[in-house]
Amino acid sequence: MPKTKEKEDTLPKSFYITTLGCPKNTVDSMSMHQSLLKEGLLPANDPEASDFHLINTCTFIQDATKETIQTILDSIDLKKKNNQKLVVVGCFAERAGKEISDDLPEVDLHFGTGKYDQAGDILKKTFPLDFKEIKEFNEDILERLTLSNSIENYSKPYSYVKISDGCNRGCHFCIIPNLRGKFRDSSEESVLSDTRRAIAAGAKEIALVSQDTVFYGKDTDKLLGLIESVSEVEGLQILRLLYLYPDKKTERLLDLYGKIDKIAPYLESPLQHVSKSVLKSMNRTGEYSYFKSLFEKARSVKPGLEIRTSFILGFPGETMADVDEIIRFIQDVKPEKVNLFPYSPQEGTKGFDLEGKLKDKEISKRVNLVRDAYLEVLKDTHQSRIGKIYPAIVDEVTEEGATVRRFQDAPEIDEVVFVEDRNLQVGQIGKVRVESFFELDMAGSWVA
Ligand code: SF4
Repeated sequence: MPKTKEKEDTLPKSFYITTLGCPKNTVDSMSMHQSLLKEGLLPANDPEASDFHLINTCTFIQDATKETIQTILDSIDLKKKNNQKLVVVGCFAERAGKEISDDLPEVDLHFGTGKYDQAGDILKKTFPLDFKEIKEFNEDILERLTLSNSIENYSKPYSYVKISDGCNRGCHFCIIPNLRGKFRDSSEESVLSDTRRAIAAGAKEIALVSQDTVFYGKDTDKLLGLIESVSEVEGLQILRLLYLYPDKKTERLLDLYGKIDKIAPYLESPLQHVSKSVLKSMNRTGEYSYFKSLFEKARSVKPGLEIRTSFILGFPGETMADVDEIIRFIQDVKPEKVNLFPYSPQEGTKGFDLEGKLKDKEISKRVNLVRDAYLEVLKDTHQSRIGKIYPAIVDEVTEEGATVRRFQDAPEIDEVVFVEDRNLQVGQIGKVRVESFFELDMAGSWVA
C-alpha cells in the first residue's frame, strides 16, 4: 500500500527486506532484520509501505542473477512511486558492486556479504537525516519486538539457524567462496541461543544451514556434539540438517541420524555429478559407487528417509557417457528429490577458463534427458507414497484447508500435502495420509 503523508509524519521509518535465493539468505535477512530493529526502524508489511526497501540478492547461477536484476529493476519502479530508499545487499552486491554504482544510480546504497548484522548501523551512517528522530530501542523492548515480529512476519512453525558461513572447498563451478569468503563457524553458544530464540518465537522445527555443514568445527566430533546439544533444546520437535557434502564426514554424521529421533528423515546432499572424471575436473570428491553406498546407509539408519540431491549438467569436458552415468544413478538409487542445473560459467571460478565448453543448446539437451529419466522415477516415488501415513507438521491454515509437510520434506524447498481440514493449528504435529498427487505436491487427510 502506498505511504500517506499522515503515516510519514506520525510513524518511525520503516523497512522491508525482499529475500532472494536459498535459506542461507533467509537467515542473513533475519540478521539484518534484527539489526534494523535495533536502530529503531519498524518492519513494514510490504515493500510499497516501506521507507527502506532492502533486497538480499543471489547470484549462484545465471538464472538467479537474472532474477536478482529483474527484482532490482522492478523495485526501482516501486521506489519512484513511493519515495523510498533502495538498498541492494548480499551476493550480487558483493560481485557486481561497481556495475551497480555505474549503471543503477537509482540504488541508494549497496553492500556485500558479511555485513548483515551491521545493516542498521550502515543505514544510519549513510542516511543520518532519516534517523534523526528515531530512538534506539532498549534491549527489553527489542527482545519483545523481535519475538512478536518473528511470529508475525516469520509466522511459520520452522526457522533456520546458521552454523557457519563461507567455504574452503573450491569447487570449480562455484562462485560462493569468492562471495562469502573462507569457512568460519559460529560458536556452539550462539547456535544454541539462536535456536532457543526461534523456539521462543514459535518454531517447532529448526533447520541448520551453512555453505558446508559437515565442515563445522573442522572436526566431526565437534559437529556431532553441536547437533546433540541443539537436539536437546526444550521445545524443539524436528531438527533438519541441510547441505551435507557427500563424504566421510557425512557418513559419520549418519550414525547420529539413527540415534536421535528428532533428526528429520531427510538427507540433503548435493552430488553435482557421479562421473569420477567430471567430479575431479569440478574439484570434488566421490564417485558413483561411493554415493550409492552413502545413500543406502542413510536409508538404512533412518527408515522412511528421503534424499534430495542435485546435479550440474554440461560441465566442460563432460561426455554423453558421463550423462548416462547420472541417468543410471537416478534409475538405480532413486533419490526422491532431484535438482538439475545447466552449467553456467561464472567469471572468477576455475571452471570459467576450462577448455571443452559445451554450447547452451547441448547443455539444455542434456538437462532434458536427465529430467525425463528423473520424472519417470518420480512417478514411481509418488505412487509409492499413496495410502501411506507420515508424521507431519502443519505449515499454514487458510479458508480452503491446511498445508501440511511430511517430516521427509524441507520447508520452502520440497513438496507439501494439502488437506481440507480447516481446524488444524499452525505448528501442530501429527500424521497425514497421502491420497493423491498432482505435479510435485500431494493431497491427503489428517489422521491424528
Ligand atoms: S562445497 Fe563447493 S559448491 Fe558448495 S559452497 Fe563450497 S565451493 Fe560451492
